[in-house]
Amino acid sequence: MKICVIGTGYVGLTTGPCLAALGHEVICTDCDSAKIELLQSGGMPLFEKALPEVVQQGVKAGRLSFTADVRHAIEACDAIFVCVGTPPDADGKASMVAIESVARQIAETASGYKLVIGKSTVPVHTGERMRRTLATYSRGRFDFDLVSNPEFLREGTGVYDFFHPDRIVVGVESERAQNLMREIYAPVLDGVFHCPWHGQTARGCGWKAPAWLVTNINSAELIKHAANSFLSLKISYANAIADLCELTGANAEEVLRGLGLDRRIGSEFLRPGIGFGGFCFPKDLSAFIEMANDIGYNFRLLREVQAINASRVEHFIHLIQQELWVIEGKTIGALGLAFKPETDDTRLSPAYAIIRELQRLGATIRAYDPQAMHKASRELPAVELVASGEEVAQGADAVLVLTEWPQFRQLDWARMGETMQRRVVFDGRNLFAPGELDRYGFDYFSIGRQPHRELKPVAASH
Ligand code: NAD
Repeated sequence: MKICVIGTGYVGLTTGPCLAALGHEVICTDCDSAKIELLQSGGMPLFEKALPEVVQQGVKAGRLSFTADVRHAIEACDAIFVCVGTPPDADGKASMVAIESVARQIAETASGYKLVIGKSTVPVHTGERMRRTLATYSRGRFDFDLVSNPEFLREGTGVYDFFHPDRIVVGVESERAQNLMREIYAPVLDGVFHCPWHGQTARGCGWKAPAWLVTNINSAELIKHAANSFLSLKISYANAIADLCELTGANAEEVLRGLGLDRRIGSEFLRPGIGFGGFCFPKDLSAFIEMANDIGYNFRLLREVQAINASRVEHFIHLIQQELWVIEGKTIGALGLAFKPETDDTRLSPAYAIIRELQRLGATIRAYDPQAMHKASRELPAVELVASGEEVAQGADAVLVLTEWPQFRQLDWARMGETMQRRVVFDGRNLFAPGELDRYGFDYFSIGRQPHRELKPVAASH
């Protein structure tokens, strides 16, 4: 099929090239012409594993192209994926400015028949509003079907997730739309593709058929918000348990492992830390609560999830203050800026919130992240960005682990300790086990866990 993808951010720039890898002819477009120019010249505006190769192959095969001319892209295609941002507005609701603008552009440009597919995360009833906008502004010049096809990819493993989704949800109103969506995803549903993540055929990389879930549009929209809010809830629950463990002398890692081993609960998203961030959970949770409020449901459960998450930064700062006493005048090294490992995305990153609070309290911050430095240089002008993990420790009174990049475990911690004013690590992500850094003379603090204690040895028998 000829497909147009509007919005080349983390979602659009993964979806478009992956659709091209399935054999479709794809044109990606964006209102950010600098981004499009970069893509046209072979550059990548974001870090996503395996994506540069998928893009290169698509372009080389002549199935993938980029244009800043949105109207041309709309005209040339049969199906249009809308992947623009839905950032939070001042009231915590999802801003519909980009969605509405794209709907109007489609309406004013399209002719014949188009399948219009909403992939952005939107509040329930957005489809209805889009339908009205498309009909009003097109004045009947074109025929369309509307689909809600929420995206569940995780940044960092977006390419993997495209080819190996748990489920594909399509909210439709017509059989024609349902059939066309099945046609678009047929290779993934039938296991007939070459997986760029594994470099193998679908069968060779353990492909399992994803669930194909056809719903109405309102349900599809709700599924996405409900899923992200549930995952946020699990994280806040883990953090509440961690607080309880700190107060009782239990070990959160042990307790949460005990919980997660129950198949009904599952171990994912049960890790305590400095809270969730990124462009999805905080804004989707807030948008879901606000949407519910607008239709007369007070989602108190999720308000508490939000409050627990907001208090994580405070909790971590308190931990630091307890140990360092006065923050003003201290130099603090920060390992990690991205909201999670394997991405360069710093949007609503808890690392930023912690750094900004420590700066407000008078600390000087040195920071390093394997992928997010280019973003941080714009976003955190008062932070000294250094070229390696080891360098954050130089002259520091403490080092903080703010993103659990696995390579931080391989740093030369012995040398880092030697360059520090004081050997203390606050691990906001429980990257290390208690006791692991003892051999380098570090005092170590983490979330929901007690300092390392050796088990009593077995008494020698007489
Ligand atoms: P993003 O900010 O990385 O990308 C959005 C892109 O849309 C930008 O490149 C922007 O320039 C472009 N854009 C904005 N207005 C436009 C317009 N009028 N015309 C053309 N282009 C326009 O956002 P993202 O992370 O890709 O997220 C997109 C949507 O997908 C959001 O609703 C988000 O909640 C949802 N989502 C994101 C993820 C994720 O992990 N990032 C996962 C699932 C769903």
